[in-house]
Formats: sequence, structure tokens, C-alpha cells
Amino acid sequence: MFDKDEYFDEMILKLEDTFSLLYKVGILSVFLIGMMKFVLSPNDLFVLYDVILLLVLIVILIKGPSISMKRKVIYTCSILAFSGLFSYLVYGIEGTGFGVLFIANITAGIFASRKYFNWIFLTSILGLSVIMAYRELHIVIHHSPLSIYFFQMVMLIICIQVLRIAVYALRNSLVENIVELDNKLEENKFILHELKQQNLEIKVNEEEIYQLAYYDQLTGLPMKNLFKRNVEERLSIVENATMLLVDIKDFKLLNSVYGSQIGDELLKIAGDVINTIDSPLLYACRISGNDFGFWYESNDIALIEKHLNQLLLEFNVRARKIFMYNKVQFYMSYVQYPCDGESYIDLYNKAVIALNYSKASKKAELLQFTHEMESALHEENHLKDLIEDAIQRRAFDVSYQEQYDSINNRVIGIEALARWHSEELGHVSPVEFIPIITKYQLIGSFERLIIGKVFSDYPRIIEKYGEVSIGINISPEHIILPQFVKYFEDAILLYRINPSLITLEITEEVIINGMDKVRSILDRLKNIGLKISLDDFGTGYSSLNYLSKIPFDEIKIDKTFIDEIEDKRVQTILKAVIEIKKSYNIQVIAEGVETTSQLKILQELGCPLIQGYLFSKPKPLKELEL
Ligand code: C2E
Ligand code: CA
Ligand code: CA
Repeated sequence: MFDKDEYFDEMILKLEDTFSLLYKVGILSVFLIGMMKFVLSPNDLFVLYDVILLLVLIVILIKGPSISMKRKVIYTCSILAFSGLFSYLVYGIEGTGFGVLFIANITAGIFASRKYFNWIFLTSILGLSVIMAYRELHIVIHHSPLSIYFFQMVMLIICIQVLRIAVYALRNSLVENIVELDNKLEENKFILHELKQQNLEIKVNEEEIYQLAYYDQLTGLPMKNLFKRNVEERLSIVENATMLLVDIKDFKLLNSVYGSQIGDELLKIAGDVINTIDSPLLYACRISGNDFGFWYESNDIALIEKHLNQLLLEFNVRARKIFMYNKVQFYMSYVQYPCDGESYIDLYNKAVIALNYSKASKKAELLQFTHEMESALHEENHLKDLIEDAIQRRAFDVSYQEQYDSINNRVIGIEALARWHSEELGHVSPVEFIPIITKYQLIGSFERLIIGKVFSDYPRIIEKYGEVSIGINISPEHIILPQFVKYFEDAILLYRINPSLITLEITEEVIINGMDKVRSILDRLKNIGLKISLDDFGTGYSSLNYLSKIPFDEIKIDKTFIDEIEDKRVQTILKAVIEIKKSYNIQVIAEGVETTSQLKILQELGCPLIQGYLFSKPKPLKELEL
């Protein structure tokens, strides 16, 4: 670090030499000049010189401290040169006395603090007065060599003293500057250190931000944006490649039935399996939710499928360790580069179309994108337009199917089923239009239309059957809409319906919306007096788990179960369900009963309530009334 005192000492030592030299030279020169030249002729220029000197001093007194360093140097040098030249030209070597005085003031004015400058200024005025007095005296005493010599000596001593003070001021000012610079240097060093530290932190943060922006925290897999970037880079390099999309089938339902923790675990397993298995796979990512993307740089689909199956197998092995479930299935689609598309976005969009296609067809197998799928999408859009129009025109009808008590041989209920006869497409099955209605969020207006029709048919149904219950199918997507319960309350009042005769048929998919939420909605519906039926039991996950959590009044065993009723395992499950009926006081009804042998087994198992073609098909109200 800079040592101020040491610097001072050195400076003073150096200056002391200069001063003594100046003293010696000055004294010697004035002595010699004084000896040689006894006469000084007064001159007008001398007066002008005094005036300039005074003016410059005053300007410097005012402006001094604010002049920049560069200018200070330039000013000093030019004044130095000018005054030196002037003094010499006018007075010869003797004039340097004035020059020294002058220069001292200039330097002090420029470099010194105001305090120093005032000092020097006063001394110089004094010095000048002495010089003036000397001139006047000179005229009086005329050519007295001794007096000239004496005054010259006095003048020189004053000049040198002034110079001494000026140089000290200069020194101080320089030292101050150096100290300041040194402090600044220290400060800068500190700032530099800080900056380095911050730079390091920024690098760490950047890494973190990169991780957050491009990697999925749960699975550790890259996210879609990084996948896109990587694939786009590769597109210009590779000759052919395959993009795959994989979706865990019924993931939302698994999440609801087994809890989101299991869902997260499954995603983690997917990430682990993808990350650890050695493969020809180049990039993989978590696209979103339960969708994954893969990029293989090969068009050998047999090889890719083999690898994919290996992944899925490993996934299921690990999944089975965390939850009791037979087998998780996957929807899978793929597109090939360059034949299916040449840009990332084109490939991705087509893979999505193929994936949606396989989701819609509920087929858990690897599907390649085809142009038929694209046209199917267009058809679907057209169908959606027709449905929208039909809803607006209230062009949907309702058919009714009876439900029988096969022991007492009487109708115990009626299920309302939507029917649509389109002018363009003819009869369209609900199996076709309900999924479209749900997909395009038309379900609210559609089901309100059906409910309205059923409620207005209600008096005629009662007239025919007496007070039987009426089953109305409600989509999981509809039941959770905020206005649903209120709508029902209002409709019941409007049509003066006995709510205990209305059964809302919902499928277990409703739990996708979260057990608690669904429970609270169902509780409110039950408070109004409505009955709740669990439809299509046996098609989905059929976890008996939620039967205890949700207060169903009825279970409808699906046709797929009834179709396999000869199978002893199916019978065991049915027995278990029928046992539940006893403990929870739930009514169990079998759907899609078509044969007497099915009916016989059902009766033996203790399930005499049935709905199916064996007894009656769904019919329009008019036919029913006949
Ligand atoms: P679902 O609620 O399970 O209705 C029973 C379906 O099985 C009806 O088909 C019915 O016609 C059919 N069915 C009844 N007995 C038999 C039988 O013995 N053999 C055979 N093969 N089939 C039988 P449908 O009318 O085609 O309705 C299909 C599905 O569409 C319904 O299944 C229901 O999920 C849905 N759906 C119908 N109307 C509505 C509605 O208004 N709203 C909602 N959300 N869904 C509806
Ligand atoms: Ca139903
Ligand atoms: Ca059903």
C-alpha cells in the first residue's frame, strides 16, 4: 500500500535540493547582475506586465480549484514560457525575479488549495510592492550601486520564499491526488473482488435458471422447449429420424384413485427408466403432464418398438413395486422424418394428431401418423359443428329403457338415453357424439337440453309406470361445473319433480376431479334429495376403495362384465360387489343383459335387478306409451 509519509519525505528531500540550488543560483545571479548593471530603466511594458499578472492572479483565484488537471498543465506551461520569455526580453536575466514570483503564483493558484493561494497571493503583493518601492527609490537614490544591490537581494529572497510556499502547495496537492488515487485503487480492488464474487454467483444462478427453464424438476428430463431446440438442431444434420409421443393411459384416473403421490412416483419412474436404460434413443423429454417425447435417429421402427417395449416393461416392473395395479398402459404415436414432415412443428403436430387418435380409440398401441387421421380430425370438426347446431335447434331426442326387477317382474326404473338423428349423417350413436360434446365443452348446454326434455316427459312416464325412478346420465365434466347443482335445484322446482325419483348416473371417471371436490358436490345433490348411481362399474379401475368414500345409492354393473359372467373370476368379483350392496345398502343393477343364462347366473348371485335387451330396448316415449 502507498505510504504517504515516506512519499512526503522523499519529495521534501528532492525539493530541498532544488530550493538550495535556486537560492544559490538566484543569489549569485542577482549579485553578478547587480555588480554589472547599476542602472534599471523604467519601462511602460513593465506596468502592462504588472497589470496582466494581477488579472491572471484574480482569474485563478476565482477559477483555480475547478480547472481540470489537463488544462492546469497546459496553462502553467504556456504562462511559464510566456513570462520567462517576457521577463528575459524586457529585463534580461534580472527579470527572472519577477518571472519566479509570477510563476509561483500561477502554480500555486492552479494547484494549491485556496488557503495556500491566499497566502502566496498576499506575499506576492507584498513582494511587488517592495519591487515598486525599489523602483521609486532607485529613481531617488540614482545609481547607488550599494542600494541597488541591497534591494535586488531583498527582492530575490522574497521571490524564493514565495516560490517555496508555492512548491509546497503543489507538493501537497500532488500528494492528496495520489492518496485519493490510491484509495480509489483500493476501492476498485474491493469492487473488483465483489464483482468477481457476483460473477460467480451469476454463473451459479444461470446454471440454476437453465436447469429450471429446460429441465423438468420431477423427472429430471428435459422439457419440451429443450427437446424442440435439440431436435431442430439435429434436423439439418440427420437423414432420417422418428419422433414418438407416449402418454400414460388413464393417468388422471390413476392419480385420483391412488392419490397424486402415486402419480408423481409414476412420473419419476418414467424419468428414471428413460434416463438409465441404454438405448439408441437420442433425446427424450417430458412434454407436459403425463406425455413424453422421444427422438430416435433411425427409421427402423421394429428396432424402436423393441426398445420402447423394453422401457415400458421396465416401467411396469418398477411401478408394481409402489402400487397394486396390474399394468399401466400407454398411448403411443410416431411420425417419421422426412416423410411425414420436415420441420419440428410439423412433425410434432402430426404426432399429436396420431396420439389423440389413439387416445380416442382407447387403443394402447404404437400408432403411426397417417393422413387419414388428419382427415378424421377434419371430420371430427365437422361433426362438432353439426352437434353445436343440433343443440341450438334442440334437435336431440330422448329414448327410455326400462329396468326390471326380474323376481317380482315389474319395472323399477327407466334410464333416459340421448338420441340424435342428423339430417346429414342419419342416426348417430351417443357413443360417437358424447365424446365430441365433452371434448369441445358443449356438455353443459347439451345435458341441460336432455334434462329439460326428460323433466317435461316426466308426467307422462308417471302416468304409464307410476312413481318409478328415472336415471339420467351426467358427464363427469358437467357435474363439476359451478352452476350444475343450482341448475338442478331450479329445474326440480320449475317442473315440480319429486327429486327422490331422479337418479344421476355418473361413471367413476368423475373422481378425476378430486375425491373431496366430487364428494362435496354429490353431498349437495343428495341433500336436494337426488339419488346417485355409479355407472359402468367394471370398465375402468373399479377400485372398491371409493365405494366407501362416496355415498352411492346404486351400482350399475357394466355390460362387459355381464358378457363374461360365465367366467368364475368375474363371478367372484360380482359376489364381492353384491356383498357391498348389503353392507352399504346400495342397489346393484346389471346392465346389458341379453340372455336368459346371464339372467339365471345373476339371480343366483343375488342380483335380480337388470336392464338389457332381454327385457326391453330403449324406445321413444311414444312407443313406450303404446
Ligand atoms: P350407458 O349409460 O351405459 O347406457 C347403456 C347403454 O347400453 C345404452 O347405449 C343402451 O342402449 C345400451 N344397452 C342397454 N341394454 C343393452 C343390451 O342388452 N345390449 C346392448 N348391446 N346394449 C344395451 P346407448 O344408448 O348407445 O348409450 C351409450 C352411452 O352413451 C351410455 O351408456 C351413456 O354413457 C352415454 N349416453 C347416452 N345418453 C347420454 C346422456 O344424455 N348424457 C350422457 N352424459 N351420456 C349419455
Ligand atoms: Ca347410464
Ligand atoms: Ca352403463
